Amino acid sequence: MQFAGFGVVRVKMPSKPQGGLRPRPRVGKTHGVLPSSTVPSASLFPPTRRPSVLQEPVLVLNATFEPINVTAVRRALMLVLKGVAQTEEHNHSEVHSASSAVKVPSVIRLLSYRHIPQQTRALSRKNILLRDRNICQFCSSHLPSSELTLDHVMPRSRGGHSSWENLVACCYDCNNRKGNRTPEEAGLQLVRRPRPFTLHTSRQLMRLIGRQDEKWRKYLFF
Ligand SMILES: [Zn+2]
Repeated sequence: MQFAGFGVVRVKMPSKPQGGLRPRPRVGKTHGVLPSSTVPSASLFPPTRRPSVLQEPVLVLNATFEPINVTAVRRALMLVLKGVAQTEEHNHSEVHSASSAVKVPSVIRLLSYRHIPQQTRALSRKNILLRDRNICQFCSSHLPSSELTLDHVMPRSRGGHSSWENLVACCYDCNNRKGNRTPEEAGLQLVRRPRPFTLHTSRQLMRLIGRQDEKWRKYLFF
């Protein structure tokens, strides 16, 4: 299962490791070094299958130690092997290529500073579910993405827009129950007011994901 990352710049990376851990010779634009994939922890999103170690989350720090992204081990190793980042913390696993074993990073840091613009993410189903942490915003059920839909709080038929402020993750039961009504009319209450996905939201998600990894804490100001 892959999710959009918290990164604000991206680099094209191989979708699968090429020849063990060796990166491809060409790696896309030079201004984008942050991968966009992230694999949230099992507690945050219900797992569909057991993830491999290469898909475990790794915290990415800017050169200044500011947390800026969460990525998967596979991409983190690529960044380290390319000399773009260095490992600050290891987790307890190793991955093996044909000739060597590499300790799996838990936290990596970019070697040169990247300016991270204050940005708002693209409005998409994936990002709405990420913002709402796969929780139905009416009944608080925590569900896999396949069991959630998007609900227009103010129905579209009544002038509601497709916007961050009017779209929420919703289970099919609540969606059916609500129909073409407002939450008040349907006797439903929003868990929280929907907001755009900002850097603040990203930080909150990083902390949630990082709860499972002690080594992230000092970087996330617990
Ligand atoms: Zn629900």
